[in-house]
Amino acid sequence: MSELLGRLATDLGEREDYDAASQCCRCGYCEQACPTYVASGCESRSARGRNQLVRLLIEGRLSDPSSAADALHTCLLCGACTAACYARVPTLDIVLEGRRMLQDKPHWLARLLTRLMADHRGLFVEILRAANLSKRLGLSALARPILRLAGLPGLALADEHVSEAPLVFLFEKLRRRASVPRPDWLYFAPCGPNFLYPRVGEATVKVLEALRGEGNFLDNGCCGLLAYNYGDVADARLLARRNIERFEAAGGRGPVVGDCSSCVAFLKSYPQLFLGDPVWKPRAERFAACVADVPEILAAQELPAARGLPAVTYHDSCRACHGQGLKAPAHDAMRRLGGGSFRELPESDVCCGGAGAFAFRNPGLSDEILRRKAGRIASTGARLVATSGTSCLIQLAQGLKKYYPECEVVHLSELAARAIAQGAKDGTQAGA
Ligand code: SF4
Ligand code: SF4
Repeated sequence: MSELLGRLATDLGEREDYDAASQCCRCGYCEQACPTYVASGCESRSARGRNQLVRLLIEGRLSDPSSAADALHTCLLCGACTAACYARVPTLDIVLEGRRMLQDKPHWLARLLTRLMADHRGLFVEILRAANLSKRLGLSALARPILRLAGLPGLALADEHVSEAPLVFLFEKLRRRASVPRPDWLYFAPCGPNFLYPRVGEATVKVLEALRGEGNFLDNGCCGLLAYNYGDVADARLLARRNIERFEAAGGRGPVVGDCSSCVAFLKSYPQLFLGDPVWKPRAERFAACVADVPEILAAQELPAARGLPAVTYHDSCRACHGQGLKAPAHDAMRRLGGGSFRELPESDVCCGGAGAFAFRNPGLSDEILRRKAGRIASTGARLVATSGTSCLIQLAQGLKKYYPECEVVHLSELAARAIAQGAKDGTQAGA
């Protein structure tokens, strides 16, 4: 069995895994909120079924524990069930504990990537640059059959889905900025903007400068979410400790702003990694209290509407709306940025099927969820859809190309940066 957290931070206080899973009274109230239940109609692919399976696993009452694998590995970790649940049962964390109970050891690829990012960052960066160069030259497509033969179909699919291949990464650009002695904000570069979408991070920094004054790049490492979801709790803790230390060395004041909602939600959950640790829990709490996602930064700001927009809509990243309760601020910001071009998206808070590596591990189920999402976007007539998570950017770009090619996806920061830049030209001031 992989290392477990053992105790979870629930809305009813800290609970042992078993007690957290037992908080689910199997009422079924969340069934229709669960995308994998709606897509499959299968009880074991609902929150109720998954919580029950983890309970049985802990009780040792599953004659074949591996029979729980499909249920646990098909969970999107979207948190829609928790948002719908009156008891706020933390199904996502319970499912992850269940996965670790089934694993002899952490997934080797997640472990390798985490180790490279944590201890050999220079090497990781050069491997990624070489991979991106081979993608630009069309060579990575040739390697896909080899990856499939080598038992790595997920990697082949990831290469197919990800269309971005930057050769200069965000941290390399941001390190050129002069740092200020008393920053009004710190920018945390999640791995998505850092290594896939530098333009997103650059847009976020521009927005922060326009709305919040001068700030600094934290020059952080990975948040640890990859290790937490697919690898190892110990590695997740290691990465969390390093980021907390960086924050403290940078002055220990917020906001610490990130622009991938999954990573930001995970940064906010750092205290759960250190339950029972008298030294690191308070430090994690101080850090988490300073973390903010882009929709929070845009909330309550004077924002000009972007000019020249086609019809635009908004898809809620699960970890923004369910994980951080940021649906209202995001939609409010979008109404102001989109002006008369904004259209509300039906089922905007239903997962797009991206969910980190889910799309590469469960391609059939992911595509079914994605097709429904693309259909909803098409129903608004939008030609542009904004969102706030890296996984959503990858998944929607891929799904729109396939099911609704008239439409493109952008990050909320990109839209805000565009509106603010136009406003500055017109003499319309953005700010509080
Ligand atoms: S997770 Fe909550 S809403 Fe869903 S079945 Fe369990 S108690 Fe009911
Ligand atoms: S986290 Fe999402 S996919 Fe998993 S049980 Fe909850 S609603 Fe369903």
